[in-house]
Amino acid sequence: KFITFEGGEGAGKSTQAKRLAERLERTGISVIVTREPGGTPVGEDVRELIMRDHPTDPVTELLLFAAARAEHVTSVIRPALDDGTWVISDRFMDSTRVYQGKLYGLEPEFIAQLERFTVAPDYPDLTLILDLPASAGIERAQLRGTLSRYDAERIETHETLREGFLEIADAEPLRCVLIDASLTVSSVETAVWQAVSSHLLA
Ligand code: C5P
Repeated sequence: KFITFEGGEGAGKSTQAKRLAERLERTGISVIVTREPGGTPVGEDVRELIMRDHPTDPVTELLLFAAARAEHVTSVIRPALDDGTWVISDRFMDSTRVYQGKLYGLEPEFIAQLERFTVAPDYPDLTLILDLPASAGIERAQLRGTLSRYDAERIETHETLREGFLEIADAEPLRCVLIDASLTVSSVETAVWQAVSSHLLA
């Protein structure tokens, strides 16, 4: 099975991805945790490049993310799934829809086409969208110093991102579960586990 965590800045995706993997392992399921941008040597280089050089053209950024995703799917995600190993990815295609699509205004149809090229047929079975009020997300991300790469100090940016993720949750209720990420880490972990149990372990 393929599970993705999505959501804005500071929502706790990485922490929850790790905790979910530990729980799955305890039930005897073999699982890997990976992330985007990243997940492969090429992907990690692309991540570093984007963070360091901040492409000014959103199309450049979209294509870099797409290239990293193609590599990620073919060299990590697909082989694992083919092997019966579960995959948990900290961000995946919905981040592109929201950051490059909703936030930067790139054409949804072009993004959908890239998605088909890079992801199909290995779409996530379950996407956990960690939802957080914009102000809380900024605060958490500021605390750990990870608000560096776009107009991240503006509350409107985070509101747009949140709206984008909520729209996806609404549009694809079979794949997506919305989780209140303003709760404590362990309450979020419980909500995540309930979603995974009812969707994938039943
Ligand atoms: O989730 P994490 O903090 O590791 O993501 C790194 C950054 O990459 C995010 O803060 C986000 O701004 C950016 N990103 C993006 N478009 C994507 C995925 C991530 O702009 N498709």
